[in-house]
Amino acid sequence: MDQEAINALRQETVQPPKMILGGRAVSARSGKSIDVVSPIDGATIAQLPDANEEDVQEAVTGARNCFDAHTWSKQPPAARKKIMHKWADLIEANALELAVLGVRDNGTEISMAFKAEPLSAAGTIRYYAEALDKIYGEIAPTASDTLGLIHKEPVGVVGAIVPWNFPLMIAAWKIAPAIAMGNSVVIKPSETASLSLLKMVELAHEAGLPDGVLNVVTGSGAVAGKALAMSMDVDVLAFTGSGGVGRQLMQYSAQSNLKRVFLELGGKSPHIVFDDCDDLDAAAAAVVGGIFRNAGQVCVAGSRLLVQSSIHDDFVRKVAALADEMKVGDPLRLETQVGALNSEIHLQRILAALDKAPSVVTGGKQILSETGGYYVAPTIVADIAPDHELVRDEVFGPVLTVNKFDDEAEAVTLANDTELGLAAGVWTGSLGRAHRMVSAIRAGVVHVNTYGGADNTVPLGGFKQSGNGHDKSLHALDKFINKKTAWIKL
Ligand code: NAD
Repeated sequence: MDQEAINALRQETVQPPKMILGGRAVSARSGKSIDVVSPIDGATIAQLPDANEEDVQEAVTGARNCFDAHTWSKQPPAARKKIMHKWADLIEANALELAVLGVRDNGTEISMAFKAEPLSAAGTIRYYAEALDKIYGEIAPTASDTLGLIHKEPVGVVGAIVPWNFPLMIAAWKIAPAIAMGNSVVIKPSETASLSLLKMVELAHEAGLPDGVLNVVTGSGAVAGKALAMSMDVDVLAFTGSGGVGRQLMQYSAQSNLKRVFLELGGKSPHIVFDDCDDLDAAAAAVVGGIFRNAGQVCVAGSRLLVQSSIHDDFVRKVAALADEMKVGDPLRLETQVGALNSEIHLQRILAALDKAPSVVTGGKQILSETGGYYVAPTIVADIAPDHELVRDEVFGPVLTVNKFDDEAEAVTLANDTELGLAAGVWTGSLGRAHRMVSAIRAGVVHVNTYGGADNTVPLGGFKQSGNGHDKSLHALDKFINKKTAWIKL
């Protein structure tokens, strides 16, 4: 990555975005569109097709017809694998272009987006390409006069709805395992982060993915997203986003065809530092990175710092010093560590949350408003009651709260005192304590002496109200498979 190449790409006029239905690039039937506003400077950079129910129905019908014609599911596994690898090759070859386009749309700093978006998506596509011919049916241990076979079949049409914080990475977590298992997909990205996904899906077709296997509808959640979730012809809905919308999706499923709904929702993850930690500098750096990268717009962000009382004051000072040094601003500068908030609405939501902070150690305000973009200084709030709403509710911004604890039992109590359970971090020099904490914390991923970075080999899923599904790993394939029994009298 070099700055000059990024500068050149950021000047390019964004090609008018089109939805992708049955391999064709189309506008919304109604002709309606949504302004794409760049969070970097508030400039309008494109007009996004605003799909209505009929557009979504067309996409779903196309996906169903493609599935029923077996144009993809019945291709030999080696052929499907080759196309998926070719797709990953094309994503890697166009990685900088995809990353810059995505940053112009969603505001993530490019140093993070380059790896976390196109390169991560390509890695996920390769992982599931390699998995697709290693999933077998089963033979049940029946009596000798009977044969019980368990076939693993694709479910049919998968609907996917994804958020704006990592549009390529999260889309790939849904699309790659779904198409690897032979399904057709209709995906709806966030209205504030669709551009790079549309480009990435174009590359899938260039790689040879048959028309109709992968379709993208763009537009609002309330209309296009709802239509997908209410469709009578979508078999499985895979969602990443907020808990509020997740709840609505389950209702839509109940009101329509009882499609299976897999939810990956928000978090309020504790980052716990014990006084027996061997490297408090490394812990402080991880705490800061774990909450402030991508301006805190990360589902597994470690937004609740819990520090043992004996080291609390020194450690908070260390963390605050590192936070103050972070470079906040233009996400298309390579040196930037904290980019923009995704939208004006989201900025206002975070400022309203900060208004309720009892006292701030550092940050706590909007900065760089002269750019026209949406930036908030890395913020640390200490001396706050554990039941304060800033400690309990997901802010999804660069806001870290700090509470102290005296011993391991209290650390566990505070860590688990939340309705959410997506991630956690523990810093300790004791192997025994590390294992005890991993088993005591109710969260889908517990990091020990590190934070973030878990790769495709392991699942990511929420406990409690953080969700009911898993992305990543071979376990994610189960969401997109029907198990069929053949019971045969011999
Ligand atoms: P959001 O729930 O507002 O939107 C997510 C998607 O749902 C968007 O595409 C949106 O258009 C769509 N949508 C909105 N209303 C809808 C409706 N009524 N019917 C159907 N679709 C609808 O979430 P967001 O603000 O884009 O993303 C932030 C949230 O995502 C945070 O809560 C974050 O923690 C969560 N998240 C979770 C994970 C994870 O892996 N668990 C990963 C990233 C983000």
